[in-house]
Amino acid sequence: MNLLVTTANSFYGYGGYGAYRYFDWTYLLVIAGLLISMIASANVKGTFNRYSKVRSMSGLTGAMAAQKVLQLSGIQDVRIEHISGNLTDHYDPRTKVLRLSDSTYSSNSVAAVCVAAHECGHAIQHQKSYGPLVLRSTLVPAANLGSTLAWPVFLMGLIFSMRPLLTVGIVLFSLAVLFQLVTLPVEFNASSRALKVLENGGILGDTELAGGKKVLGAAALTYVASLAASILQLLRLIILAGGRDRD
Ligand SMILES: [Zn+2]
Repeated sequence: MNLLVTTANSFYGYGGYGAYRYFDWTYLLVIAGLLISMIASANVKGTFNRYSKVRSMSGLTGAMAAQKVLQLSGIQDVRIEHISGNLTDHYDPRTKVLRLSDSTYSSNSVAAVCVAAHECGHAIQHQKSYGPLVLRSTLVPAANLGSTLAWPVFLMGLIFSMRPLLTVGIVLFSLAVLFQLVTLPVEFNASSRALKVLENGGILGDTELAGGKKVLGAAALTYVASLAASILQLLRLIILAGGRDRD
């Protein structure tokens, strides 16, 4: 699963500029977002650690479980590879390669099996051209542009008191937020596909599935937290732009 907390980190730096002129209370929105993301991240790490100590009854490793989930889903053209790092697991649709990290590939824990199956969920979405996934891929360039340019453009708008630049900055930032919004159904759906195959294929038993739901649920919450943090930052930009109008 991809746990990178996204797009808008460059925005955290703005507080210095605000504090230089006056106490910028809107910075509290950034801090609130940061806290939400930290809590979600600690939660997923805790849940993952807990279930990475629970051995799956089948004894299948993450890689073997992924093989089985793909096979049960009728997918034959996806390769499974090992990738270094912690929670760096992902499915690469361009090369049709499913990469599983150290803690997933050769571990036979419930957590490893569930994370591997979740990545298979993305491969299944890709094969079936699942709508939100297609939309998400389409949005990648716009989201990258938005997260790179939103802050510089907005800052120029503030410095030169140019309203159109502030608006463009807000629109650019909204593109990044939109991308995060579309990411939610993609992630939730990958997990529900994964759990369905794990259950129907008899790869995990009932108790194990309950644990798996907790692991994947905690992972999904990190995406919700990232979105919430970005929405708070968007709100902040809107408030700052509005304040500048009144100056
Ligand atoms: Zn995912």
